[in-house]
Amino acid sequence: MTGGAGFVGSHLCERLLDAGTEVVAADNFATAVTANVAHLLDRPGFRLLSRDVTAPMSAPGPFDVVFHLASAASPRDYFRLPLETLRAGSYGTERALDLAERDGARFVLASTSEIYGDPQEHPQREEYWGHVNPIGPRSVYDEAKRYAEALTSAMRRERDVNTGIARIFNTYGPRMRPDDGRMIPTFIGQALAGEPLTVTGTGDQTRSLCYVDDTVRGLIALAASDMPGPVNLGNPHELTVLRIAEEILTVTGSTSRIEHVEAAVDDPARRCPDISRARRELGWAPEIPLTEGLPRTVAWFARQRSASHPAAGS
Ligand code: NAD
Ligand code: UDP
Repeated sequence: MTGGAGFVGSHLCERLLDAGTEVVAADNFATAVTANVAHLLDRPGFRLLSRDVTAPMSAPGPFDVVFHLASAASPRDYFRLPLETLRAGSYGTERALDLAERDGARFVLASTSEIYGDPQEHPQREEYWGHVNPIGPRSVYDEAKRYAEALTSAMRRERDVNTGIARIFNTYGPRMRPDDGRMIPTFIGQALAGEPLTVTGTGDQTRSLCYVDDTVRGLIALAASDMPGPVNLGNPHELTVLRIAEEILTVTGSTSRIEHVEAAVDDPARRCPDISRARRELGWAPEIPLTEGLPRTVAWFARQRSASHPAAGS
């Protein structure tokens, strides 16, 4: 698995190990901390390799499945790492596909709802081609993933690689980096610190939040199938960003206020998956509602915070 030390990757490694699967995780720690997988290092069947997957590499194997997750994923990270993000989607995807071809392995691409850009169809079905600004600051991520999907599809057609494309929608949970700039860690950190929650623009833009355990279950279901996809993996419960900020205030019991800050460039106005294909072809649907996932996530962030600031929360 590439990107195995990241937020989603670390949960995926853990779930696979729990099922008795051997896992080799390759990561260059561009956007992850080793603490994400520190608890896995002593588990039988787990290996962590420090590798930049965009560079030529010798890889162990043979593998039955290659999951390609390596890529910056939060807007703050890919704005900071634009060329690295384009390379992870292009060279990184090509090397991961080559590995799958070498071993006759199933290949699973972690693509994204961002390939729909600022969508003009709601909810988004896999047939929708998207509405992406190809030269704006978000394009380093969106277009890299669109290229990754094109390359994956061509490798299936031309070289018979057994590929599957997952279009992951906003996923949240423990092990998001507190400083990754995404809405969930930012709002939770602000609420716990008693600081204002910085909602961009009007806050009327929407997102649909999927708890990480559900996303990981979907990725494993896709790996176990022969389905080429693309398949949307996300929770169809659509909420405005303002409403999400208010939910976080409720769950944390915080008295922080909401502060409106400048809208983000090319920020998608609405995002919500149509998950009929995942339901029909993978038998998958999210099981963990925000009312369960958010308190679990807040509890994890609160523990991290009290470990790093022992006086906080006492
Ligand atoms: P993350 O930043 O926590 O994880 C990405 C991992 O990839 C990190 O561990 C990072 O160090 C590693 N990485 C980046 N470039 C690398 C390189 N060149 N070589 C080796 N490792 C490299 O992000 P995440 O949220 O866990 O996302 C994981 C994957 O899922 C990404 O591909 C992302 O595009 C996709 N995805 C995530 C979400 C979400 O909401 N979390 C939504 C859609 C798609
Ligand atoms: N957002 C916000 N305040 C923040 C960070 C993000 O209001 O401090 C908004 C952001 O502009 C977007 C939504 O929350 O409208 C989701 O942003 P995130 O970075 O979590 O994910 P993405 O834009 O990739 O869906």
